[in-house]
Amino acid sequence: MSTIELSDRQKEIVKIVKKNGPIRGQDIASKLDLTRAALRADLAILTMLGYLGARPRVGYFYSGKSIISLLVENIRKIKVGDVQSVPVVMNEKQTIYDAIATLFLEDVGTLFIINDKGFLEGVVSRKDLLKSLLGNNSAQNMPVSIVMTRMPNIHYITENEDVMEAAEMINEYQIDSLPVVEVVDNEGLNLKVVGRISKTNITRIFVELGEE
Ligand code: ADP
Repeated sequence: MSTIELSDRQKEIVKIVKKNGPIRGQDIASKLDLTRAALRADLAILTMLGYLGARPRVGYFYSGKSIISLLVENIRKIKVGDVQSVPVVMNEKQTIYDAIATLFLEDVGTLFIINDKGFLEGVVSRKDLLKSLLGNNSAQNMPVSIVMTRMPNIHYITENEDVMEAAEMINEYQIDSLPVVEVVDNEGLNLKVVGRISKTNITRIFVELGEE
């Protein structure tokens, strides 16, 4: 979608096809007082971008796609695995102090907590940690597991799901991030954390699509 801003001539072509389609290339050309050859590049771009469809011997037709629907189509192609970040993981026995230090060191807002087997056990956020310290200074030596949100209440996603799905979950559950997991054992719900997808990843996609 590098040419999302159409030229005046391209806009004119779309208008003609919308009104008259299906219409042959040479008929578009004659409406614009141009040769078929002069239009070839514009028609190729418009079909490539999905504004126009082309059928042999029938001609060009308007595909009815708005810029928004083209954008959404592109977002739908992006998988969680394409944009995820490295997860920051801690053992459930580590302390609240360790968790706070890790947030600063790793520059993240959420930590994923695993058990001794290495499987996802919980999620701890900035506010969980702040809350644990309110009125209780000695809490920093307690295990992080006492403040985390626990399985099975953790929302998670897998690498081959749509990034749109992740965005919808983050929005619906009002959380900052989701652990990206590999389901090792569905019945015991043993989940291995392989990534992290956060509001930051989603915002970055938005910026990149806007810049393209
Ligand atoms: P903040 O601390 O900035 O509010 P969140 O909005 O991510 O961060 O967290 C809000 C609450 O939701 C916290 O109690 C946190 O433990 C919990 N939480 C965060 N991420 C998840 C998740 N993926 N699944 C379930 N609960 C979560």
